[in-house]
Amino acid sequence: MIYADNAATTAMCDEAIAAMIPYCKQIFGNPSSLHTVGQVAKEALNDARERIAKLLGCEPTEVYFTSGGSEADNQAILSAAARGAKTGKKHIISTAFEHHAVLHTLKKLEKQGFEVTLLDVHESGLVTAQEVADAIREDTCLVTIMYANNEIGTIQPIAEIGAVCKARKVPFHTDAVQAVGHLKIDVRRENIDMLSLSAHKFHGPKGIGVLYARKGFPLVNVIEGGAQERGKRAGTENIPAIMGMAAAMEKACVNLEKNAAYVSKLRDKLIDGLLTIPHTVLNGAREPRLPGNVNVCFEGIEGEGILLLLDAKGICASSGSACTSGSLDPSHVLLAIGRPHEIAHGSLRLSISEETTEADVDAIIQATKETVATLRSMSPVWRDLQEGKRQYVIQ
Ligand SMILES: *Cc1c(COP(=O)(O)O)cnc(C)c1O
Repeated sequence: MIYADNAATTAMCDEAIAAMIPYCKQIFGNPSSLHTVGQVAKEALNDARERIAKLLGCEPTEVYFTSGGSEADNQAILSAAARGAKTGKKHIISTAFEHHAVLHTLKKLEKQGFEVTLLDVHESGLVTAQEVADAIREDTCLVTIMYANNEIGTIQPIAEIGAVCKARKVPFHTDAVQAVGHLKIDVRRENIDMLSLSAHKFHGPKGIGVLYARKGFPLVNVIEGGAQERGKRAGTENIPAIMGMAAAMEKACVNLEKNAAYVSKLRDKLIDGLLTIPHTVLNGAREPRLPGNVNVCFEGIEGEGILLLLDAKGICASSGSACTSGSLDPSHVLLAIGRPHEIAHGSLRLSISEETTEADVDAIIQATKETVATLRSMSPVWRDLQEGKRQYVIQ
C-alpha cells in the first residue's frame, strides 16, 4: 500500500506512541487530583505545554489544549467575535478557501449580525498582504487566514499579513494545521495573535490540538465546565494524547529542514510526472507550496473514479477534502482559485511525507497515467473533447 493522503491524516510515529503509553496505565492520574498519581500527571502536562510553547516561540501560558484543529479554529474566531462585539466591531476578514472549521464558524457569526469579507484567492492560491490591508475597516475585529491550504498546499504570506494586522491593531488568527511540523513558525516574529494546530497532521495522535492565544487575549469558552486550561477549556486533559503530540511535534520540528528538502524533491518529481499527462493542470502555484502537496485536475474525468481505481492499485489519495468527499459538490477551494466546475470535479490530491520513497512516486505516476487513460477511454465528455464537440478547458 502507498499512502499519499497525509493532508487528511498521518500515521503516528513511534516516538509519539512511546510517549503515550506510560500515561495510559502507570501515570493515569487526573491532573486536578491532589494525590501523587494526579500530581505526576500534572507535571507531565506542564512539561508538554512548555515544550510545545518553545516550538511555537510563545509562553506556556499562551498554549491551550483542545480536541484538535476544528475546536481551536472555533474558539479563536468566536473569541475575537465576542471581543469585537463589546465595542461594536462586527466585521471579520477571511478567505474563500479556508477549512470548513473556519468557514462554517463564520457563517454562524453572519447569522448573528457579523459581516464577513471573504477575500478572493488568486489562481496561484495566494492572497496578498495588501489585499488584507485594503479590506481592513474601522470595525474589523478579526483577520483569520490559513497558513497553508489543506487541498492545494499554497502557503500564504503570513508574516506580512501579521505585520499589517499589528500596524492596524486588528487581531490576527491563522489556521496553521497544515503548516505546523512542516514549516518553520514563530508566532512572535510573524505577529500572530492566535494559531490553531492539530497533532494528527504531523504524525501525532488524533483528537488533540492546540490553540495558541497571545497573552491577554480574552478567550471565550466553547466547552464549559471545570477550570482546566486556566478556565478556558473544560474537560479532563487528554494526557496520553498531549504527550504524544509533544513528542511528535518535537520530532517534526527537529527534522523539519531535512524532511522538507527530501519531500519537496519527491513532490517536484511527482508534479513533473503527472503534468506529462495531456490536458492536466497543477492547482495552485508551484511555490510557495507545502513540501508534500500535489493537486492536479485532469480534463474529462471524475475525481471519485480516479480514487477508486487508484485504491484498487493500492494507492491512497484524495479528491477535494476528506470532509466533503461523499458529497458531489466540487471542492470550494478549487472553485475559489477559479477552476470551472467541469474540471474541478476531476481533481486529485496526493499528499506525501518523509515516509514516501522515490519508488513510491514512480509507482504513483505510472498508476495515475493508467487510471486517467482508462477513465478517459470510457468518458463521453472526453470523447466529445476529442471529436471537437466541446472545447478543452485545460490546454
Ligand atoms: C485537518 C484540518 C483541520 C481540522 O483539524 P482536526 O484536528 O481534524 O479537527 C482544520 N484546518 C485545516 C487546514 C486542516 O487541514
